Amino acid sequence: MKTHIGIAGAGFAGAVLARELVESGKFRVTMFDERPHVAGNCHTERDEETGVMVHQYGPHIFNTSREDVWDYVNRWGKFEPFVNRVKAHTAKGVFSLPINLLTINQFFQRCMGPAEARDFVGGLADESIKEPRSFEDQAMKFLGRDFYMNFFYGYTKKQWGVEPSKLPASILKRLPVRFNYDDNYYNQKYQGIPVSGYTEIVKRILDHHDIDVRLGMRLEPERKRDFDHVFWSGPMDGFYNFQHGRLGYRTLKFERFVETGDYQGNPVINYCEETVPFTRIAEHKHFTPWETHEKTVCFKEYSALCGEKDTPYYPLRMNDDKDLLERYVKMAEQEPNVTFIGRLGTYRYLDMHVVIGESLDLAKICLEKESSQWPKFSAHPLS
Ligand code: UDP
Repeated sequence: MKTHIGIAGAGFAGAVLARELVESGKFRVTMFDERPHVAGNCHTERDEETGVMVHQYGPHIFNTSREDVWDYVNRWGKFEPFVNRVKAHTAKGVFSLPINLLTINQFFQRCMGPAEARDFVGGLADESIKEPRSFEDQAMKFLGRDFYMNFFYGYTKKQWGVEPSKLPASILKRLPVRFNYDDNYYNQKYQGIPVSGYTEIVKRILDHHDIDVRLGMRLEPERKRDFDHVFWSGPMDGFYNFQHGRLGYRTLKFERFVETGDYQGNPVINYCEETVPFTRIAEHKHFTPWETHEKTVCFKEYSALCGEKDTPYYPLRMNDDKDLLERYVKMAEQEPNVTFIGRLGTYRYLDMHVVIGESLDLAKICLEKESSQWPKFSAHPLS
């Protein structure tokens, strides 16, 4: 008899794991998702009015340096090369992002080469900060006040809803600063966009006779007894019915509008000013430059504190959250036959390629070990 696995959530975390397990022939999976579609927040769908492929929960550009992850996603669908080149709308004009030599030269109206620019930016930095403890410290130490105030302060305050001095430095470390003209938003070796969208890829991953997908249906935690083991990619606090309180998240709200032709000439423009209420505008036709569409559909993105009925996006991980997280982690560590996986299950700010990599790694362990030895988390939430 095959081991019966229950999986909560049909996003990449659960789908990759499910597929890897059933391909061994030893497992069968029943997967649940409350939403009417698979792929979680990576869900893509053609916009009825314009025909444009839309990333329903905000732009997702696949990027990874892990060869096995890149090979894995390419096994399920064709990817077109795509380099994410973001623009920043600031009080001083529109600039290239991440900060690179063009940004530095245009922002300060200079014509510097790489070495000169490095020295110049070094001279802007706040040298009194030895050990950057916050987002603000990190920005001030490495970029100085002008860049911080024009590119990061307003955007970050809108995005996270708190002063950047209260946020960890790690958030800013996601973004590179370059002293050349490379304006690729990411530093990873492989980058692309799936021609048929992410949802199609996840559907293919899940298309297996030993995987039963139930959409529009929640896996209730009490039902874990129906399975030999449960992988939970929903919110960790949700598994415990929020009994100690709710972990904080930011959510996103989208304002859709349709125009003719080309609205902004770029897939993503960030609005860094504090006075503009949204954080960015994404024009989704530019994510598929190999397609042609007469009309264009755009989304203004607003960040807000996640309420009970909202979709959780970014784990806040403020100090209160960390205390609460520790309590839930202790419970999860004692929870028999359950493994918490993915962004919501482990309450970490994760990109898709990291989630896929972790599910591939977890599946390997699960195929080697007895289920009683399976890890409690795809990666530890407190690490
Ligand atoms: N950020 C900013 N201005 C920008 C872009 C990013 O201040 O124009 C900050 C913001 O705090 C954000 C962080 O840098 O959360 C990391 O940026 P990234 O693009 O990785 O965020 P994502 O949109 O992927 O969450």
